[in-house]
Amino acid sequence: MIVNIEQASKLIQSGDIVAIPTETVYGLAADAFNIGAVKKTFDVKGRPVGNPLIVHISNLGHLKQLALEFPEDARLLTKTFWPGPLTIVLKKIPEVPDIVTAGLNTVAIRMPNHDKTLALIEKTGPLTAPSANKSGRPSPTRAEHIEEDYNSKIPVLDGGPSEIGLESTVIDLSEGIITLLRPGYVTSEMIRSVTGKTVIHSKMDGHKISRSPGTRYTHYKPKAKVCWFRTSTTDFSPGAYFLFHSDNPGFTGKNCFSYNGDYAALARDLYDHFRTADYLGYSQIFIESFRNFENHPIIPALLDRIQRAIS
Ligand code: AMP
Ligand code: MG
Repeated sequence: MIVNIEQASKLIQSGDIVAIPTETVYGLAADAFNIGAVKKTFDVKGRPVGNPLIVHISNLGHLKQLALEFPEDARLLTKTFWPGPLTIVLKKIPEVPDIVTAGLNTVAIRMPNHDKTLALIEKTGPLTAPSANKSGRPSPTRAEHIEEDYNSKIPVLDGGPSEIGLESTVIDLSEGIITLLRPGYVTSEMIRSVTGKTVIHSKMDGHKISRSPGTRYTHYKPKAKVCWFRTSTTDFSPGAYFLFHSDNPGFTGKNCFSYNGDYAALARDLYDHFRTADYLGYSQIFIESFRNFENHPIIPALLDRIQRAIS
């Protein structure tokens, strides 16, 4: 069910949930201060309650409803990257409901770069929004993906295909150091160049996992088995679905997609390919292997999501 901004804001204000467009992926939005509404997003998605949500804001004035303090690094980074694909974790004020933060003393906040969603949040105030997929499905990057996951039962504010197509970078700024919790379009190098501080990469050890509970769960996975493909060593099997980052004139067919080095386009389309391959019944997706040194800002995030889909 497609709704406009006016209808979406009425629904949110009456405690309902609405799928919203962002430049990263679509989110399933609820009023961040309405515990019943936020709970609905967990129920509808099938998301484990131990996984905290990102609160989406449309202006810096919203921060005082959420954060206890706004450190200098946060000021510099948000000035450069907001609205945009960077989520910051700050110490929260007590008024932020526990269900939003999974009981942590911090809250994750982002100002998304999408006109429709910014206009909606101006009307409603801060919105929690996990990715709008059913738990276990790839994140939605188009309105159709949400219609598919929920049989058209969830209202969707259609904002066109997501421009980036991978979830935001998440960094923790609550302890005076900068810790990367999830790679995204905004890279550690970009963060360093703005703050002058080295970004600590969160290891998957027990301590950090409890700091970013989302990293515990399997995400980003299609039903098809995802594998790396080395053009030199792997036999081409015509029954699989293929994604090439380079130009591969040797491999063609309706199951082959070449990106000619356009990693941004591959990232933007990745989840749509996962869903299409599943829909068409492919049991394997081969992705031509590449490495971090190919030097495009989306590559660390793209490798992270592909690796998670493989493991
Ligand atoms: P999703 O909304 O599905 O893209 O996931 C949001 C991500 O942000 C998950 O990986 C969460 O664990 C992470 N997150 C949200 N709130 C916090 C927080 N307060 N501290 C650390 N990580 C958080
Ligand atoms: Mg998600």
